[in-house]
Amino acid sequence: MADCLFCSIAAGEIPADVVIETDEVVAFNDINPAAPTHVLVIPKRHVASAAELEPDDAGLLGALFAVAAEVGRTIDGGWRLVTNVGPDAGQSVFHLHFHVLGGRPLGWPPG
Ligand code: 5GP
Ligand code: ZN
Repeated sequence: MADCLFCSIAAGEIPADVVIETDEVVAFNDINPAAPTHVLVIPKRHVASAAELEPDDAGLLGALFAVAAEVGRTIDGGWRLVTNVGPDAGQSVFHLHFHVLGGRPLGWPPG
């Protein structure tokens, strides 16, 4: 999708610190990390947010969660998988992404 930051990262047009790449998924370090490990896991295909997901996206979601788990297994002590949807949740990039956060105690509930 034109003018989408994460589509451009997925296409390699904008550089990112990529940690895992598969046919469908890219995982890269967040530019402004909120924890010692803060990786974003995105589909290469443009999906605006989790609110757009349909049953046909089951395979893509499996691929996204498998990559998130691969990142999470490198974190000692536990980790969190988060996706923000819409303005009240603080979504700032409108291309589906899962945050993998860990490496410090994480408060609950989130702010
Ligand atoms: P959201 O607020 O939409 O849930 O998360 C967007 C995330 O993308 C934020 O944590 C932000 O730091 C990260 N981010 C925004 N622009 C860039 C960028 O150009 N490169 C990388 N690696 N992360 C970015
Ligand atoms: Zn996009």
